[in-house]
Amino acid sequence: MLEVSSGGTYVDATLGYGGHTEAILAANHKASVISFDRDPAAIEAAGERLSGYEDRVILVHANFSDLKSELEVLGVGAIDGLIADLGVSSMQLDSEERGFSFRFDAPLDMRMDPDSDTESAAEVLSRLSETEIANVIYEFGEERFSRRIARRIVKARESGEPIETTTQLAEIVRRSVPKRKNERVHPATKTFQALRIYVNGELDILEDFVRDTVDLLKPGGRMAVITFHSLEDRIIKRTFQNLAGRCFCPRGFPECVCGSSKRIEILTRKPVIPSDPEQQANPRSRSAKLRSLRKLDLTQKYEK
Ligand SMILES: [Zn+2]
Repeated sequence: MLEVSSGGTYVDATLGYGGHTEAILAANHKASVISFDRDPAAIEAAGERLSGYEDRVILVHANFSDLKSELEVLGVGAIDGLIADLGVSSMQLDSEERGFSFRFDAPLDMRMDPDSDTESAAEVLSRLSETEIANVIYEFGEERFSRRIARRIVKARESGEPIETTTQLAEIVRRSVPKRKNERVHPATKTFQALRIYVNGELDILEDFVRDTVDLLKPGGRMAVITFHSLEDRIIKRTFQNLAGRCFCPRGFPECVCGSSKRIEILTRKPVIPSDPEQQANPRSRSAKLRSLRKLDLTQKYEK
């Protein structure tokens, strides 16, 4: 998707364990990678993994929403390609202390950058009103029983038992949701996802991130994005379409105000999904969707 074969400067917006960064570096000895992660634990772990590539990789502890300014600081003006993997890394899901998972009893934190001064999930649940909590769980978790869950959360905190741990929250959700037969996923999955997205402001930054990346790409440069749930995928798909020239203005508008312009070509008409063997080997890949684009060279004429 990235055509690393031609070498150049690449960005890995979500370093995680460093798998994608390493794959780019290994694919071409003329490729260099600038890799971002807002989790200091990722920077440290991937640093060891990538120690053999020191002269071609730069690790930056920052959120990818700051891509433009961070690259400016490094003196990088334009890039040849970018990959963003928007899944929570297995490292975070498997970390017992960070509160991302109901599989471990831990403080309900969920911040991807635990050093930041933003609110933890527990603080969010103690501050928001019942309606606001229900809306977060419904909108970001697509959870049908959001109102019942929100009511129990507020009841618990009013009776002097604020929700401070993963186990407390998982138990409240389990009691709020009707028991289904042959349940494959834990009933609290959607609620945990919703809180993680809200705490980290994950959806707010996506559209601007795609637009910033297209600004930074050289003509012919490529961007690949992997998402793990439908809300993210919808934002990526629409932003790609808008950048490819599709107008989303309401019908009858006298002129286009949605920013549509033909700046890119979409390389994936349908998202690429993992094969059956890949899904079996790596169950967490089940919901992954990959979309990619190529920036047009507007100095040349395109004829069809
Ligand atoms: Zn428009």
